[in-house]
Amino acid sequence: MGGLIQSVLAQSAFDTWRNLAYIVAAVLFISGLKKLSSPRTARTGNGLAALGMLVAVLATMLHLQALSYVWILIALVIGSGIGVVLAARVQMTQMPQLVALYNGSGGVASALVAIAEYSRAGSLLSADALFIVGLGTLIGCVTFSGSIVAAGKLHGKISGKPVILPNQMLINAALIVVALLLSIVLMQYPGAWWTIPIIIIGSLALGVTLTMPIGGADMPVMVSLLNSYSGLAASAAGFIIGNLALIVSGALVGASGLILTAIMCKAMNRSLGNVLFAGVGTADSAGTGGRESTFGGTVKSADPEDVAIILDSAQRVMIVPGYGLAVAQAQHIVKELAGKLEARGIAVMYGVHPVAGRMPGHMNVLLAEADVPYEQLLEIEPANAEIDRCDAALVIGANDVVNPATRHDKNSPIYGMPIIDVDKARTVFVLKRSMAAGYAGVDNELFVLDNTLMVFGDAKDTLQKINTALDEL
Ligand code: NDP
Repeated sequence: MGGLIQSVLAQSAFDTWRNLAYIVAAVLFISGLKKLSSPRTARTGNGLAALGMLVAVLATMLHLQALSYVWILIALVIGSGIGVVLAARVQMTQMPQLVALYNGSGGVASALVAIAEYSRAGSLLSADALFIVGLGTLIGCVTFSGSIVAAGKLHGKISGKPVILPNQMLINAALIVVALLLSIVLMQYPGAWWTIPIIIIGSLALGVTLTMPIGGADMPVMVSLLNSYSGLAASAAGFIIGNLALIVSGALVGASGLILTAIMCKAMNRSLGNVLFAGVGTADSAGTGGRESTFGGTVKSADPEDVAIILDSAQRVMIVPGYGLAVAQAQHIVKELAGKLEARGIAVMYGVHPVAGRMPGHMNVLLAEADVPYEQLLEIEPANAEIDRCDAALVIGANDVVNPATRHDKNSPIYGMPIIDVDKARTVFVLKRSMAAGYAGVDNELFVLDNTLMVFGDAKDTLQKINTALDEL
């Protein structure tokens, strides 16, 4: 009896320490997230969050109930191995699909935790926990299948075109209602194990039917939303196994994913409902548009040497990067060009659109990699306040985010999206390989404006040639 009391006391003292460690981890997660909001502090933020995760993992592993260290080690080696290979192989432009796969893994892991805990504790679980087993399985499986479809679309394995079934909304609503009803059945009748496979199948189908109608151009928004779902699924798993760290970190992922989704929608001037149900974006997302522009008008082109001459006589130049900069990996060479212009006394700034590229902050990450000073990066509003004073705008692999049709063409699927108004600069150079449309599959009237000169070719090659020509002037 004495031994039992001692072990209970020791257990509760351990629980207190573990919960304290979880609180420390939560504080580290939150301060990490806060620091991620600025490129200047993002690296430290990442480190803090990783440290938080280490604290949480160590605190959990100190007292194992269901698993041995051997199993954990095996999982650790397999998981880290896959992670290292993926990180080494994946290209920057494939990052969104990798994030989608991570979200999917998080979702399925949370669903498995919920199911495993139900098969372990079954009727011993409280009614709340039983309901959350159903709910967690629902969210986790939706996240999993939705993320696989999203990754497939982003990678071009599945067509980026929106696929909308007849009565799509009704089907989705029915699948959600059935899963929720079955979760209630499980709550009322803890032995009703048969509800679980039905919830799994229905939720996997729901993930597919929710993601297939989303066009390639909007897929990054869906990935962000799925990220949020994966957090909710983790939180649900945390409730079921009574793990504070999992509840808090899941809630943080859920909330930050939702905030990011809202920011992306705002940057495109679209509502979440419009992104999820309007089926915008007909271009296949693996390519960079792929379709030749059909917009009428005369296209004028220039050589890199012509660009160098005009830049040489400019006083203010705005560089506007887009997805093509990432494809060409031209971030270092563009910094080199900026250095040459600055050495000539020319003011250089970068207009960075929040949805340029294929993930939020994509351009900031690339430019930071090349050590472009943060103070030269302008968001849409300050960039547009400067643009009409610029002698030249250098659009590097950007297309949709500089399409003036968004200001006046009500029929354009990207109508209303705030853009960087490069057409208001004295001369606009557009560096891209062809007349192909951008990610949204929309023609760009910028290409045929009087003050626009197209400079065809891979952005990195073109920039290299401009640099050489500048040196020779
Ligand atoms: P776009 O996809 O509109 O255009 C990119 C352009 O880069 C293409 O037209 C392509 O033309 C060109 N390009 C590709 N490779 C190269 C290369 N090697 N050298 C030179 N040019 C190249 O990109 P934007 O950044 O302007 O717009 C992003 C799009 O993604 C928007 O539609 C946005 O709404 C969408 N989106 C982005 C999100 C985000 O978080 N960033 C989220 C949701 C949506 P060509 O083939 O002729 O070379």
